Amino acid sequence: MDLRMKDKVALITGGSVGIGLAVAEAFAREGVHLALCARDEARVQTEGRRIAEAHGVEVLALRADVTEPADVGRLCDAVEETFGGIDVLVNNAGTGSAETFVDAPDEKWQSYWDLHVMAAVRLARRLQPGMTARGGGAIIHNASICATQPLYYEPIYNVTKAALAMMSKCMAHEFIGYGIRVNTINLGLVLTPDWVKTAKTLTADGPTTWQEHLDTIAREATPIGRFATPEEVAPFFVFLASPLASYCVGSSYYVDGGWLRVVN
Ligand code: NDP
Repeated sequence: MDLRMKDKVALITGGSVGIGLAVAEAFAREGVHLALCARDEARVQTEGRRIAEAHGVEVLALRADVTEPADVGRLCDAVEETFGGIDVLVNNAGTGSAETFVDAPDEKWQSYWDLHVMAAVRLARRLQPGMTARGGGAIIHNASICATQPLYYEPIYNVTKAALAMMSKCMAHEFIGYGIRVNTINLGLVLTPDWVKTAKTLTADGPTTWQEHLDTIAREATPIGRFATPEEVAPFFVFLASPLASYCVGSSYYVDGGWLRVVN
């Protein structure tokens, strides 16, 4: 299948590890030039160089904290200077944590709102004119199955990912008028280094290995009985961004091994 993406330009936030990195590599495989950002400059630059060499595409890898409006501004300026604009924006940067309503302070709620919602709002607002001038494009929000089906240990994550999915729906309504298709992907369990690190911490002193711990989570949660790999979910992002998905607007797509328990 020719996805007709060669020489397009994609900006992927959090493109230095895990899902964002796999998505970056999947775009690069289709000949898409990349702008990647993350807070750890050394890591994003190392991965950027590796992808550029492996796939023969241009990669701009920058340090930016997407919760900081000034960083978002600098990032967008640099991307437009280098490539003249972008065709695809993947809002992927995000994270979760465990907390309770009783203990979590306002600052924690605010930081997740900034990371999961405001970063995407600010990037879209700043980049839309340039995307439209290039003939339109696609914005993908990497939300989560938790936007619909919560994991009760991480209420702030669930709430802000639900807000992101609704924000994406509302943006889609407006942005299709600018030639930009906006959609959401809700992933289930995807085995990234962060999951491995947490599993190792939780099993350090017990009889269960970290692999057994993760296997149990996957067996109990998903009908498919296992985690996805980042590489397994990444091609869906590329398809959704491509002209072959030209009628996909304002939807949420689940890639979750059957984990979602309702029809949605
Ligand atoms: P990782 O923790 O592996 O990667 C997160 C990426 O985002 C890193 O590149 C990180 O780099 C970057 N990042 C985090 N905060 C910021 C910030 N403030 N500014 C810029 N970059 C930032 O996460 P995953 O790959 O697991 O998850 C990626 C996305 O997918 C997240 O939005 C997550 O919620 C979603 N998701 C993940 C699932 C999973 O099972 N893994 C399931 C469903 C959804 P750095 O730390 O250097 O900034």
